[in-house]
This record gives sequence, structure tokens and C-alpha cells, in this order.
Amino acid sequence: MDHLVLYRKYRPQTFAEIVGQEHVVKTLQNSLAQNKIAHAYLLAGPRGSGKTTIARILSKSANCANLSRIQEMNSVDKLSVRRSPRLAEAIGEAQVGEGEQDVPCNSCANCLEFNAGRSLDLIEIDAASNRGIDEIKNLRENVRFGPSSGRYKVYLIDEAHMLTKEAFNAFLKTLEEPPAHAIFILATTEAHRLPATIISRTQRFDFKRLSAPELEHRLKIVSNKENIQIEPEALRLIAHEADGSARDAEGMLGQVIAIGENKITLDQTEEVLGLFSNRKIKEFVGFLAAQDSVGALTWLHKTVEHGYDVNQFLKSLNHYLRKMMLVSLSPDLALKIKNELAEEDYKIMASQVQKFSTPFVVSLISGFSEAKKKLDYYPLPQMAVEVALINLLSYRPTPTIDSNLVEDSAIKISNDKLLISKQIQNSNVSKPVAISPDSNTLDLIQSKWAEIIKEVQPHNHSLSGFLLGMKPKEATASSLILTTKYSFHRDRLSDLKNKKIIEDAVHKVVGLRLVLSCVLEK
Ligand SMILES: [Zn+2]
Repeated sequence: MDHLVLYRKYRPQTFAEIVGQEHVVKTLQNSLAQNKIAHAYLLAGPRGSGKTTIARILSKSANCANLSRIQEMNSVDKLSVRRSPRLAEAIGEAQVGEGEQDVPCNSCANCLEFNAGRSLDLIEIDAASNRGIDEIKNLRENVRFGPSSGRYKVYLIDEAHMLTKEAFNAFLKTLEEPPAHAIFILATTEAHRLPATIISRTQRFDFKRLSAPELEHRLKIVSNKENIQIEPEALRLIAHEADGSARDAEGMLGQVIAIGENKITLDQTEEVLGLFSNRKIKEFVGFLAAQDSVGALTWLHKTVEHGYDVNQFLKSLNHYLRKMMLVSLSPDLALKIKNELAEEDYKIMASQVQKFSTPFVVSLISGFSEAKKKLDYYPLPQMAVEVALINLLSYRPTPTIDSNLVEDSAIKISNDKLLISKQIQNSNVSKPVAISPDSNTLDLIQSKWAEIIKEVQPHNHSLSGFLLGMKPKEATASSLILTTKYSFHRDRLSDLKNKKIIEDAVHKVVGLRLVLSCVLEK
């Protein structure tokens, strides 16, 4: 099955069917109703955002037999600009009767010709194919001839930035004195590559990248039309992966529908498209949260054996970790992420965030991004992930620290602001575990302090020198607080690498994995 079948089959035929780009649709509908059609339009924006679709609907509307009726009505009663049902609803206007006043009507002879791709009044030029030299020459020669059956002859120049300098110059002469019956529509993903002389003669519309919810909405419409039941999570996964492009989204949906099931699950969708849903990624992150490198590696091996692509895995993993980072940073950002995710997925993410400090999530993102760059460097692509994973998990994530404790002892730890805001954010998710001081551990560490310093020495000589001036002040079951008189000592300890050296030394000497922090002596 051609993966663009659905995209072509369900290409919107009316303004009302367009998802997203409300600003463009509204302005074009108004100018049609008020007979203020421009001679040249520039439609600029990312691929798959609907430029060509809207250009074709505009061409069809300009030639629709129903247009003059609407324009007449509009001149009789300025207030009753007829709009599509969708637009009417959006601006709170009474809806127009079923299709009767819509433009394009999709039932007049001109509309039917357009829909069948037979209209002689729409000339489509693909500037990418041969830089448009011959086409622009033809255009120059034929532009004076009027339309064959409609009111306008429309020239749609796709990928307009690909025109050569000569083609632009030739075209500019036409644009300077356009015949009354001609409409030029330039569509481009790279408007900055068009000459300013061309741009200034067009009415410009900037298309936005379609949002994931907009794409999801569009996919729902298409799957309903195809009579396919598909899990909402599957549509969400596709919408997210399509990265703003309706063409890509509908292409992927087509691939999934091609498996021939009437009921399509998220699992099937992942498998057919080789994608990773949040549901899948959170399993892996669960192993990270549990510091379970063996579990994580086993999961990875199974996934790779199943035929999944490591590059795609790292991409999805980093998207997930980015969301975790934002959730951990502020309640506002957390709310934004919450709206993007299924409720169940968000709940699990929020509970996973509790097990990580923001700096640790950041180190995971940069570690796995590095791994993505090194996929070709290792004999097996998954080795890049394995090496990164083992490296990263040797950094212990900092557990949530009780906010009272933070205030009482004015603990200053590295990236303290991040940790505290995380603390505040998380407090409505579930209560953090209060950490009570543990004098036995403190005694143990104080008695072994000289030994710990000795252990640090071979790793970092100057760091061991700093430690001589520091004292273990307080310990809990999972943390250790040192005091110092000097802020530059404290700063040295905020370095993750230094922290890790000391934490490892503590672990080696007293057998406890404690998270280190440092406060200034009052
Ligand atoms: Zn019509």
C-alpha cells in the first residue's frame, strides 16, 4: 500500500476540514466573502503543515460558482458574512445551513472539476523538479490567456524557493503587472530564500507547525472515515512522532491500517512503525530509577532482538527524559507536560521524577545524547547505550530531601534551587519521606574520616587537601552533610565529579552509599 494513500484520499476539500492554521483560514475566508482576493499569495511554513491543501481550496473557492452569491449577500448585509460551520462555531456565530452557503461548495461544475483534478484553471508548478525554468517561461507566455471555465486562472508554485535567479526575475515581471484574472500562490518551506522584491508583492501567510493534539484530531477523523478502531494512545504516539507534519502522520497511520486489523492497539502500532511509546520508555526509566543496570540492559537486549532501532530508542528516551526534567523544574511546566500525556502516563512519570534529582536527569539526557552520536563508533549500536548506561548509573541519583530539613539547617547543596523547586512541585504528588538524622552513621564516619580522606587522595590530591578542613556534621540513612568555613570548598564539592569521588570513598571505607552535601559553618 502506498503510504500516502490516506493523505491523498482524505485531503481536506473545504476550509472547515482544515485542522490548525485558524488565522490563515479565517483571513482567506473573509477576503473571499468580501471579494478582496489578492493577486499573489505567499504561503510559508514547515512541511506537511497544509500549505498546498489550503492553496488548492483557495483556488477552488475563487472559481466556485457559489462565491458570487455569497459576495452579493455580503454586500447587502455586511454583518452576515457567511462562514464555514466550523469558523461560525469558533467565533460564536449562528451556523449556516448544511453546506448551502459554503465556499467551496464542492457541488458546482467548477468545484467538481477541481476535485477530480481536471480543472484547467489550476496550474501547479513544482519548482523543485527542474528549478522551474521552462515552467516560468510558459507561465510568462500564457498568463495573458484567461481562465477556461472559472473566474480566475491560478498558478500554484510549490517549493518556490527552488526557482533559479533567472526564473525569479522572469516571474517578477509578471508579478509587477498581473492580469486581472490571475492568482499566483507561492508555497515554500524556506521563505527567507525568496527575493524581497517577490515577497513584497505578495500577501504573506505564515503557517504554524501543527501541534500534536491537532494532528491527533486529524488522525481521529481519518481513522473514523476508514472505520478503524485504534487505541487513543496509538494515535497520540503517531501524532507525536509526526513532528508537526500531517503528511507524515497520515502516512504512518496508513502503514498501521495496512496490517488489516479492525482494532488496532498501541503495541501493534509500536511494532509496525518501530516506535517507542511512553508506556514502553517508562519501563526502561523504571530500571534507571531503581539503579538496576542489569534490568535495564536485559530490557534493552530484548528490545533490540525484537528488531527495534537503537537510534529511535534513544530519541524517544531523550524526549521522555526531557519531559521529566521539565516536570521536576516547576509546577507550570509540569502542568504543560501533564496536558501532553495520557493521565496514567503522567502519574507514572511524576512518581519517577521523585526518584531523580534534576541534575541527574540532565546528566542522563546529555549522556544518552552522547551515546546517540557514537552509535557508529562501536561494533554494535546498542553498545553505545550499554556504556552510557553503566557510566551514568555510577552517579547515584539524589533522593528528595525534606524541605524542613533544607530550611532548618540552611543546607546548600549543588543546584539547590532546582532541588528545592522540585521538592515543592512534588509535594502534591506524594509526601516525601522525611529523613531523620542518624547519629550511629555520623559516629562511624567521624571515626573513619582520616581513612576516607586517604582513600580520596590517589583520585584527587587537592580534593583530599580540602577535606582535611571539613567536618562531617550530620548523617542520615542516605545522606551526609559536611561543614566548611570556606565557600570555595563548598563550590569544589558541588562539582559532580568531586562529589562522586568522595561518595565512592565513603562507600569503600564504611560500606554506605551516602549522598554528599556541604554547608557553610555559621
Ligand atoms: Zn463550487
